[in-house]
Amino acid sequence: MSETFEKGIDTPAVAALPASGIRRCGNYGGRAKDGMPCQQIIPDNRERCAWHPASAITLEEQQAARNKFAAVGREAKLTPKRLRRTAADPRFGTPAQIVAWAEAMTGRVARGEFTDYRGLDAQLKLARLALDALGVAALEQLDKLEQLVRNRLQGGGAPA
Ligand SMILES: [Zn+2]
Repeated sequence: MSETFEKGIDTPAVAALPASGIRRCGNYGGRAKDGMPCQQIIPDNRERCAWHPASAITLEEQQAARNKFAAVGREAKLTPKRLRRTAADPRFGTPAQIVAWAEAMTGRVARGEFTDYRGLDAQLKLARLALDALGVAALEQLDKLEQLVRNRLQGGGAPA
């Protein structure tokens, strides 16, 4: 471990900062895979880029920090995005509610807010089931209405 990298700050490099004022990770001891100073530009409130945290002093520690950072990114990328656990259950009481749910879900998928496609497939099947049940209920209503009309016709007019 180099003494100049103590606390993640390369003191001689800081002293030799360019007059332009552009701060780079490599000025503070951040080293790329090939051991060369990292060229990532960093904001005023930081000394290193996210790939080379100041706590990583040796090249091995910096490599380990890089790998950990990449693994976190991979994990986040591979995890499907779902609704929050506290999200309300959809209402499927009317066809209009099912249409409203389909529109909202389509928007979430289009914006990349919902990427759990396996979960979406199950939800679509359940929404379809609810729509079928609404269709059966509508047919039952029609049957009752038809029976009512038939009874009135057979009874010879409206009941008193
Ligand atoms: Zn860096």
